[in-house]
Amino acid sequence: MEKKLIHESKKYLMSTYNRYPIVLRKGRGMKVWSADGKEYLDFIAGIAVNCLGHCHPRIVITLQKQAQRLLHVSNLYHIEPQIQLAKLLVENSFADKAFFCNSGAEAVEGAIKLARKYAKDHAFNEKNEIITAFGSFHGRTLAALSATGQEKLQKGFEPLVPGFKSVAFNDINALEKAITKKTCAIMLEPIQGEGGIRIPSPDYFKQVRELCDKHKILLILDEVQTGMGRTGKLFAYEHFNVTPDIMTLAKGLGGGIAIGAVLAGESVAASFQPGTHASTFGGNPLACAVAVTTIETLLEDGFLLAHCEHIGKYFLKKLEKLQKEFPSIIIEARGIGLMIGLELTKTGDSIVEKCASRGVLINCISGNVLRFTPPLIVLEKEIDRLIDVLEDIFEREPH
Ligand SMILES: *Cc1c(COP(=O)(O)O)cnc(C)c1O
Repeated sequence: MEKKLIHESKKYLMSTYNRYPIVLRKGRGMKVWSADGKEYLDFIAGIAVNCLGHCHPRIVITLQKQAQRLLHVSNLYHIEPQIQLAKLLVENSFADKAFFCNSGAEAVEGAIKLARKYAKDHAFNEKNEIITAFGSFHGRTLAALSATGQEKLQKGFEPLVPGFKSVAFNDINALEKAITKKTCAIMLEPIQGEGGIRIPSPDYFKQVRELCDKHKILLILDEVQTGMGRTGKLFAYEHFNVTPDIMTLAKGLGGGIAIGAVLAGESVAASFQPGTHASTFGGNPLACAVAVTTIETLLEDGFLLAHCEHIGKYFLKKLEKLQKEFPSIIIEARGIGLMIGLELTKTGDSIVEKCASRGVLINCISGNVLRFTPPLIVLEKEIDRLIDVLEDIFEREPH
């Protein structure tokens, strides 16, 4: 059955994705099942989206209840779940105000517009440039892609949106040199996700903040992947002793439902006034209700965040042991919480395929980094299973 579905998938869908030959039909917790009934342990979780696991009962109940009450009304009116969600995010972050949209790229677009508008409101048109980092990923829409510091993703889509330049990540001198009178913002991921799980040195963001304050530049943190408990704290900036001016969220925010957010402090948020920015579906009752349940579940008793931190350390230790066992195949294991990468000495695609045939889903980013972003509910025994599978595969690899 899967074979026929895959044939039709290729026939009717644009070829934007290099998909694995698996059709997924059902999921529960850490597990997903294919249309042919094969069971997999899911260490991707929809790319850091399904933070509570698949079909979490509380999410399913919220969805059912909200679907019976109200799906969509537009932002011409006040929406109860949207107010609730904004309040929850504000009470648990640096921010004073929220704007809701539908994806990571849309959140990044909102952040870019807000930063430019704030600069115009305060500096008479001079400042409109945004500095980002090489290896970053901010999304596929045109401005978000122009902000993304990866030429290979931009190729073929020129002319790009002007006003962006990139410097080396985790290099404070390069960043300082790139700042000019025209710089209005610096936009960074706290930990680079798609770029290969790159963690900056502990004092990097403190220095970035100092530069921003000195030159009156806004700091945008793109927490689309790192946010919502992924690193063991609700937001990754909490690890680095830094407060952003603007933060973007998406991926895990809706626990599996599409929603994005732009958060900002009062004075920056004030630059968005009626008519400056909008989104028809943004902050719709369904997505917001599910996001409220997701955050409430994440924060309840601090249990899931503590679990994520604890089990993330367990996971990393196991991978470090594997690195010692196979130094000719593995360069490094790194990560915080459950955002973990394993850098290989060679491309990782065949390892991903071998894992899938043994019933474990992982993926490979920037060519040679295996990425693990399981649901935050993952257990030791499930991690042990993945490690066994990886060990077995590496043993059979030439080294
Ligand atoms: C995934 C991602 C995006 C883009 O999100 P989409 O929902 O795919 O548009 C933006 N920034 C970061 C850091 C991401 O990881």
